Amino acid sequence: MFESISDKLDRAFKVLKGHGQITEVNVAETLKEVRRALLDADVNFKVAKTFTDTVKEKALGQNVLTSVTPGQLLIKITKDELTKLMGGDATDINISGNPSVVLMSGLQGSGKTTFSGKLANFLKKKKGKKPLLVACDVYRPAAIDQLHVVGEQVGVEVYSNKEQKDPVKIAQEGIEFAKKQGLNMVIIDTAGRLAVDEKMMNEIAEIKNAINPQEVLFVVDSMTGQDAVNTAKAFNSRLNFDGVVLTKLDGDTRGGAALSIRKVVDKPIKFIGTGEKMDALDVFYPERMADRILG
Ligand code: GDP
Repeated sequence: MFESISDKLDRAFKVLKGHGQITEVNVAETLKEVRRALLDADVNFKVAKTFTDTVKEKALGQNVLTSVTPGQLLIKITKDELTKLMGGDATDINISGNPSVVLMSGLQGSGKTTFSGKLANFLKKKKGKKPLLVACDVYRPAAIDQLHVVGEQVGVEVYSNKEQKDPVKIAQEGIEFAKKQGLNMVIIDTAGRLAVDEKMMNEIAEIKNAINPQEVLFVVDSMTGQDAVNTAKAFNSRLNFDGVVLTKLDGDTRGGAALSIRKVVDKPIKFIGTGEKMDALDVFYPERMADRILG
């Protein structure tokens, strides 16, 4: 569907080579292509501009101009820089507590409940943990039912209390329940709203303060592009979360939100969601995302 940026740049440089020496101007022109690719992939404009400026500096420093394969060298520098910007190596989730508590945050529809189930499944199967899912959405009974369905799918117990209207209390009850049952991971699914609002932020901040989780994850729909960055900023300034989960990367998004979010909030992306099924979760690898963004 997309022409690979690597192919595009290689072709551009081949043409240039036929017309004598490659100059700084040519490199700048070519980096415009990179910037365009980043913008197409939904990378925030400022982030893309700063990024290509850095790549240009590096490229000139590494003698791209006299290289026999300037296109390939430029692509390599671009990929390396992209990877570095997105965190370099994969970042693990903290599961050191007993029980270890993970608090989900994010807007309604971002994929929190689905991801909670996927994470429970992942921790059970890949990390040998005994998880409990806790339903803290006190506004939508359907959300509680949905978490029960998800729990059943992955064979993980779900704690809920439809009589209790205080999400802080439900979270605390859930943790107590896990302790009694000898479960060593607690995943708390919370209520999101369609847009950032004070009430939601206060509520999730209160839960965080009351239970002091090992890990606060911010879940965001990668299809929402630039909005994803603004939402991430709002949640981070209030919650100072530990990591990001980018969902719906199975769609036709190029994943540029990953780069923008990482750059803007400076928190690692830890997981990506790649489908609706319970096994459609991947650990986030910056290098793979760099490949995807560049096509
Ligand atoms: P919540 O309101 O944040 O709890 O969001 P849900 O978990 O209910 O997800 C909202 C919708 O997105 C549901 O229809 C999910 O099946 C879907 N969804 C969640 N994660 C993914 C994903 O990684 N890929 C796709 N294609 N759909 C997803």
